[in-house]
Amino acid sequence: ARKRDGKNGANVYDETILDRARQRAEIESDVEVAIAANWFEAHFQPIVKIGSGEIIGFEALMRMRHPRKGLVSPAAIISVAEETGTIDQIGNLILEDALANLAQLSRIPGMENTYVAVNFSPLQFEPTLPMRLAGMMAKYNILPHRLTVEITEAVLMHDNPEIRTIINELHNFGCRLALDDFGTGYSSLSYLSRFPVDIVKIDQSFVRSIGGDNRELELKNRMLIEGIGAISHKMNCTVIAEGIETVDQHRILQDIGIDCGQGYLFSRPRSIVDLMSDLSAADRDLVKAAG
Ligand code: C2E
Ligand code: MG
Ligand code: MG
Ligand code: MG
Repeated sequence: ARKRDGKNGANVYDETILDRARQRAEIESDVEVAIAANWFEAHFQPIVKIGSGEIIGFEALMRMRHPRKGLVSPAAIISVAEETGTIDQIGNLILEDALANLAQLSRIPGMENTYVAVNFSPLQFEPTLPMRLAGMMAKYNILPHRLTVEITEAVLMHDNPEIRTIINELHNFGCRLALDDFGTGYSSLSYLSRFPVDIVKIDQSFVRSIGGDNRELELKNRMLIEGIGAISHKMNCTVIAEGIETVDQHRILQDIGIDCGQGYLFSRPRSIVDLMSDLSAADRDLVKAAG
């Protein structure tokens, strides 16, 4: 047997690669079954106005409900699905579930105008996307402005004219465009002028570094957040801070003038059933009706 902590570094390396290959193969086969059986669910995390706490929308976050392993988070699944090309099918299932969930939530008083933000991978931007999306929105009776398309720099990076056309079509249709994980990439600022961005989501890493013990780091990151906020506002974008976990972070972001927030402090991502019963006890029969 190989020794993991042996002097022979090569063996440790081999074994790690083997482990990873096994894990990857397992995810790949899980995903294949999951697509066929539709084990995917869009969990919803509220997005709130930073001052009032009013819920204005929800981010749909993919979860795989594995019958044996329970709820599986997206990180590992998505990178494998992007490699194998199944992300497009998963994306469709999530989009459909997200819109169905939003239609459900809209029946709760106060939730009629909330929106859903769905994450998109670069591979999902094929010419048929705007048509399919419009069809799905009609099916669930949801107006275009109630869907936000969340993309990261990875979508815009190569300045692919086909992707640019699709994004413009979505924008002209009335959907909103959000730049996710803003501030961590290579040339994020220029995307604000080159694409019709409506919402800037400040990356969690900035939020994590404020309201803690490291005063110097906090001061610097506070200035970065202020700067990103000022530029975004000048470009007529709404600013959302992601990953707010503490009351201190919330207070600082409010002081800075950030518009909206999202994070465990307000709510973790929840299944539609949990969220519905949470938002309105009077609507429990709606949940039952949804099955
Ligand atoms: P993201 O789009 O930046 O989503 C935010 C992530 O931060 C989510 O992780 C969310 O659960 C987590 N989060 C929210 N509030 C807090 C907080 O206060 N503290 C901490 N530590 N984390 C918080 P999740 O659900 O694991 O998703 C990870 C990433 O996977 C997402 O990052 C997104 O890039 C991707 N993803 C999720 N769903 C989909 C999907 O349907 N399609 C695609 N293409 N990507 C998705
Ligand atoms: Mg996102
Ligand atoms: Mg993000
Ligand atoms: Mg992210």
